[in-house]
Amino acid sequence: MKVLKTDVVIVGGGAAGCYAALSLQRMGIDAIIVCKGLVGKSGASIFAGNLVVSGRGLGNSDEQARDTAEFLIKYHNQFLIDQQWARRCGQFIEAVYYPELEEAGLYLRRDDAGEMVMSPGRIRSVAANVQGNSGIPFMDLRRKQVIRAGIARLEETAVTALLRRADGSVGGVFALQTMTGEYVVVGARAVILATGYSDRLHARSTGTREMSADGIAMAWRVGAAMVNLEMQWWHTNDIADPPSWQRMQVYPNPMLGSDKSARMVNSRGEEFFNQQQDDPLAYGPYTVQLKALAKQVRAGAARYDGDYFAGFDHCDAREVDAYTSYGKIYRQLGLRFPEGLVETAVTAHYRQGGIDVDTRTMRASVPGLYVAGGLAGHSNGLIGLATYDGKVVAEGVASDLPLRDDVDVAAGDIAAEESRLERLRASAPDAVAPARVKEAVRALMWDKVGVEKDAASLGAALEELARIRRDLVARMGVRRTARACNYEWLDAIDVVNMIDSCELIVHSSLERQESRGPFMRRDFPDQDNERWLRANVLLRTQNGRRFEQRPYDLSLFRPDFTVRDNLEVAW
Ligand SMILES: Cc1cc2nc3c(=O)[nH]c(=O)nc-3n(C[C@H](O)[C@H](O)[C@H](O)COP(=O)(O)OP(=O)(O)OC[C@H]3O[C@@H](n4cnc5c(N)ncnc54)[C@H](O)[C@@H]3O)c2cc1C
Repeated sequence: MKVLKTDVVIVGGGAAGCYAALSLQRMGIDAIIVCKGLVGKSGASIFAGNLVVSGRGLGNSDEQARDTAEFLIKYHNQFLIDQQWARRCGQFIEAVYYPELEEAGLYLRRDDAGEMVMSPGRIRSVAANVQGNSGIPFMDLRRKQVIRAGIARLEETAVTALLRRADGSVGGVFALQTMTGEYVVVGARAVILATGYSDRLHARSTGTREMSADGIAMAWRVGAAMVNLEMQWWHTNDIADPPSWQRMQVYPNPMLGSDKSARMVNSRGEEFFNQQQDDPLAYGPYTVQLKALAKQVRAGAARYDGDYFAGFDHCDAREVDAYTSYGKIYRQLGLRFPEGLVETAVTAHYRQGGIDVDTRTMRASVPGLYVAGGLAGHSNGLIGLATYDGKVVAEGVASDLPLRDDVDVAAGDIAAEESRLERLRASAPDAVAPARVKEAVRALMWDKVGVEKDAASLGAALEELARIRRDLVARMGVRRTARACNYEWLDAIDVVNMIDSCELIVHSSLERQESRGPFMRRDFPDQDNERWLRANVLLRTQNGRRFEQRPYDLSLFRPDFTVRDNLEVAW
């Protein structure tokens, strides 16, 4: 076993983790990034299609700045957000984020006259360098910056447990280096979890293979509070088939350089979502679109897993191809472009909720533990927001470090984690393959904890998760027991995290007795701002869990009704 020491260990190499590391490095604080995939090449950040312009940056008017704030708070978070955090984040994006990116050489697309190409309208975005593809150059830049800064990295290394000191505070991590099979313990005065939220917990998901809700499961095991775990977001128009294309999206908002966007058609050939008419302000296509689809599903004209279509048949191909990558999807599938429409389906996208944090420092409820980016429950993501968290968490850690002694973690925790992982590497002739268990979990989450759910389906989900633990996990084993490059072993480690997290998500879904934005309960169809404009906080207790509610500050924007059918609420 390798044992390392540093000031701060950062778990995750997406937008949040990289920016936290770069910010700490500028303050002269040593950090190691431990990343399950490659830094800058794993997680959700690479998928960002375009970059939203907030505040008055890049030529935004005062009105556009205000509209973007309203979009973020109302359409993107359904008021479940700290509005003052949102304001500070907007200021950072305006004053620091874009100037810094351009100075570092990120090319934001320009037209022949040298003007930056924007999506028109009240909420504007830019692309690096084509719409649909911005995350890759963005994260390539971050990877280079991290390497150039000499920040230590342990890549293809999965953190499997947070390690505690005798006083219960977090003081390090236990990890498995996938390529060698070697264990690593990293002792640190602070741990930043930045493992993202785009987890692959449903049969259809935008999350990648390595995203198994590890951050939630590990933080819960050390007693961290969670918030709004039930608030799952969905993409409404990702490619239905082939399954490997399930995170390939036909983006429903205006294209760069054009005011047009994809339209949606049901199984009867009737248009049911056209952003220009249904969401002309382009405030928040995902929820608006999901609600339009829910009405079609109820009318028998679509299913959540297909039988409806999306495309650009009302556009000129040159208009789409000029600054976006969307035409490529159709051509690669052998469809005529722009005349052809493609069958689309819902995909679990990302989770608005997550680990409960203090938004001024990103401290979690357990001392020594900090969270940044999508994994935290304070806001729904976007790459600029995750970046801002990287800055805030670095400042929070820097202010706390002088108070954190350099104490070793408890040896018992290390030994316990080692033997837990060894048990998961065991083999038996009739063992159940970890991949089979993953599939069973994802299928049940899709069927019973999908777009629409109720107390009966959620109760059945809990029973099914208990059965999976009893019948499948108890018999789970790997075929190959070698330590190096053993992805089946990694799958087995993931399975435990997935089940623990899914249970917390289901309990949280049962607790929120309303529908809000993309969270749709058949048995509570109304959005209830009197009882539920609240943080749904999940606390770990000696004998299990309990929920608490916390009101939100509504100092900038507030809803203009108390109770209304969620499907009739625009956002
Ligand atoms: C399909 C898709 C499209 C999107 N489009 C846009 C867009 O157009 N514009 C926009 O602004 N945002 C977009 N987003 C959202 C944006 O990408 C996220 O908000 C942001 O990237 C989150 O960054 P993060 O650093 O928190 O997490 P991630 O980028 O998900 O990074 C998580 C990191 O944690 C690592 N990790 C996970 N588990 C472990 C473990 N156990 N041990 C060690 N490391 C671990 C992963 O390998 C990864 O490096 C999109 C997201 C998706 C999924």
